Amino acid sequence: MLREVPVNPKSIEPYREVAGDVVIDGLKEAAENLRGARVLHINSTAYGGGVAEILYNLVPLMRDLGLAAEWRVIEGDQEFFEVTKFMHNSLQGMEIPTTAPMREKYLQVVEENASRFEGDYDFVVVHDPQPCAILSFLEERRLRKGRWVWRCHIDTTVAQEDAWEFLLPFINLYDAAVFTKEDYIKTPLKVGRLAFIPPSIDPLSPKNQIPSERTVREIMAEYGVDRERPLLVQVSRFDPWKDPLGVVDAYRMVKEGFPGVQLAFLASMASDDPEGWHYYELMNRYRGDDPDIHLLSNLQGVGNLEVSSFQAAASVVLQKSLREGFGLTVTEAMWKRKPVVAGGVGGILLQIDDGINGFLVDSVKQCAERVKGLLADPGLREEIGARAHRKVLERFLITRHLRDYLDLFSSLP
Ligand code: UDP
Repeated sequence: MLREVPVNPKSIEPYREVAGDVVIDGLKEAAENLRGARVLHINSTAYGGGVAEILYNLVPLMRDLGLAAEWRVIEGDQEFFEVTKFMHNSLQGMEIPTTAPMREKYLQVVEENASRFEGDYDFVVVHDPQPCAILSFLEERRLRKGRWVWRCHIDTTVAQEDAWEFLLPFINLYDAAVFTKEDYIKTPLKVGRLAFIPPSIDPLSPKNQIPSERTVREIMAEYGVDRERPLLVQVSRFDPWKDPLGVVDAYRMVKEGFPGVQLAFLASMASDDPEGWHYYELMNRYRGDDPDIHLLSNLQGVGNLEVSSFQAAASVVLQKSLREGFGLTVTEAMWKRKPVVAGGVGGILLQIDDGINGFLVDSVKQCAERVKGLLADPGLREEIGARAHRKVLERFLITRHLRDYLDLFSSLP
């Protein structure tokens, strides 16, 4: 069978405090009809990136609501993940052809995974393109059972034709497809049902707890960051779409007006993202010998508490993405009442209302200008931060996300 990812148990009850009784009672009621339903989530990495982050929280809460939820990952070699990262980039619009050897490699590894698939499930949710074709192989072997949902976390609006055409027949086999936004689908699908569900954060996970000032100070000291000087933080995988070099350029422009400013770039290395090292090296060279640029990753022990502390320590959080299905990091920082300056693209347009609860930018210069405005005005940072927190509370908590999944499952014929 595919490898299972163990998750720690969670209880839905403590979420009453944050989401309110109406939401929690509604969730419990909606889960009643699905009691005992066997749900399997499949993706391609247990660590790094937003999908893993979501599943660590969603799966145990589904269990607590009475569903028999599991999370399993497909496995592949380095070459497979290189191919799927090319496909991912090309689905986000980068000019990379999906060649015959790439298709072959993709199908070979997904077929191997399909041959290891076992068990009976009522609902199988397959996340993103990496495992997407698994259903076609099960169908070929007449092993398709239960309802199958393909959950696409990326914005395929400007996908390259060949990558999209390759994937389309596999997507069309599903009973339902879920995208973050309606306009993310490049061409119409033939799936039975379409749903639009934005991701969420778990307000009670260690990542989203607001650490004490003492903890923040200790962690800043540990990583050589001066708590008394302004700090810009971006938390992202090393990935071209997160514009790491643009972040450094914006920081340098800010530094001209605010010489004390520091930048921390936190990047986990996801196991399904072989580009990480390349961009790490690139950024490392690009930052030169500036002691105020801190480049940190899970390899220096950056885990949930550190991410959370850096987000809490930030004067301004950046997410200068050039494409973004949905930036969990944006919502994590907004929950911590931080003003976020982010690329005005994709899911970020759902997350931030420009000038109200954050700022949207489309260039390095504009990014630097917004940051300078915020650094100069603590009152504005606070106001924006307070509205940011409210937006997350209303729209992007995991309780809403769970409800959307339950409603989707119940609606499938
Ligand atoms: N993340 C982390 N450590 C890092 C970098 C990222 O824990 O060094 C987490 C981050 O907090 C967020 C997720 O990885 O929860 C990234 O999700 P997002 O949707 O922002 O981007 P993706 O990687 O899915 O494109």
